[in-house]
Amino acid sequence: MSQTLQAIRGMNDILPADAERWEAFEELVRDWLTAYGYRPIRMPLVEPTPLFARAIGAVTDIVEKEMYSFTDSLNGEQLTLRPEGTASCVRAVLQNNLLYDGPKRLWYMGPMFRHERPQKGRYRQFHQVGIEALGLSGPDIDAEQIIMCSRLWDDLGLNGDGSIKLEINSLGQPEERAQHRSALIAYLEQHADQLDEEAKHRLHANPLRILDTKNPAMQSLVEGAPKLIDYLGENSLKHFEGVQQMLKDAVIPYRINPRLVRGLDYYNLTVFEWITESLGAQGTICAGGRYDGLVAQLGGKPAPACGFAMGIERLMALLEAKEGFIEPLAPDVYVVHQGEAAQRLAFRAAELLRDTGCAVLTHMGGGSFKSQFKRADASGAQLAIIIGDDEVAANAVTIKPLRAVAEQQRVALEELADRVGDWLYGADDELTEE
Ligand code: ATP
Ligand code: MG
Repeated sequence: MSQTLQAIRGMNDILPADAERWEAFEELVRDWLTAYGYRPIRMPLVEPTPLFARAIGAVTDIVEKEMYSFTDSLNGEQLTLRPEGTASCVRAVLQNNLLYDGPKRLWYMGPMFRHERPQKGRYRQFHQVGIEALGLSGPDIDAEQIIMCSRLWDDLGLNGDGSIKLEINSLGQPEERAQHRSALIAYLEQHADQLDEEAKHRLHANPLRILDTKNPAMQSLVEGAPKLIDYLGENSLKHFEGVQQMLKDAVIPYRINPRLVRGLDYYNLTVFEWITESLGAQGTICAGGRYDGLVAQLGGKPAPACGFAMGIERLMALLEAKEGFIEPLAPDVYVVHQGEAAQRLAFRAAELLRDTGCAVLTHMGGGSFKSQFKRADASGAQLAIIIGDDEVAANAVTIKPLRAVAEQQRVALEELADRVGDWLYGADDELTEE
């Protein structure tokens, strides 16, 4: 026998029980984004490779080793499965001239692809909700984006126990980073013997990223390194203080983490991460900040921007630990029937119920009433509709409550929708009383 084909490592099926939870989450997310004036945008999953090299920076984990890039065998183009959404979103904004009439607040949701070592909370196809605000330069939009995250944690019931923590930092402006960079390189060169291979490789290309190292052996070295915040000028400090004031006004606790530099090159000024300790090593559930240089870097007229992305798998893992967040979906009604005429009546009855908004599962595949009732029970439906020869003769159906002690009832087909409505939504409380 041939072996069953397997999905690609690190790319997961999301099975119905989980997919239903995801959909409930996505619905909530849409309402939340709308409440802040963000509008949806959908970009392709595949982009020309140079877009990411240019946007994300050549000396980054993503561009160096995580991209799924390939040559289109039909026309030789270099293509990449998107590893993140910001580059594509800015590309789309520029290509479609969306900034012509003022700032834009945009959001997207969907799969991203990175060739990483799969482990809990880290996958090769994963999903993000991302937002980007373009054309706004003040600390107010940075702060609002952080505040809106906090509201989402509230909406999801995740905020109460303080298990999600906010860290912020300021990366200043390019010229301030340049000064800090020289000081940092000088410091790291003095301690060259303590650098690992990756750090040596990055020493001149991207020394700031060395501060982001996950190597425990380098922690104390990194601890003592010159801090970027000491190189910030007046305007950068003012922006950072503006963000902090608004967080204080909104009573959102935060910690300044001077080593928070983010994995991507394009950030400036505000950066932030929401982190939890409940997920082990993969604890960052949302990360973002300001990237004022990117629009121009991708060929647009300079425009300030900031945004964030959250990892849906990590959020869902957090929610899983919370009981009762999303009830599994069940049909309202399960229709059991026996005989050919009964099946035809079952189809009509089911459509009549769907006309009124009911979710109806019609039994298929035959079997005794007993075995059909087993399925009805297992489906989680509130009511069964029974149709046999007697019902066909009377052009009626029998309604049988499955989750409450109440008599079953024969009703004429014309009354079916009303009676089911009463029972499901409790007009005369027959089912909801006990
Ligand atoms: P990490 O340091 O965990 O690799 P990152 O800095 O690469 O994260 P970002 O590019 O900022 O991550 O992406 C934003 C969010 O997307 C992350 O905070 C995380 O929640 C999620 N994310 C990133 N990479 C993955 C992945 N491979 N699998 C699952 N979620 C991911
Ligand atoms: Mg990463």
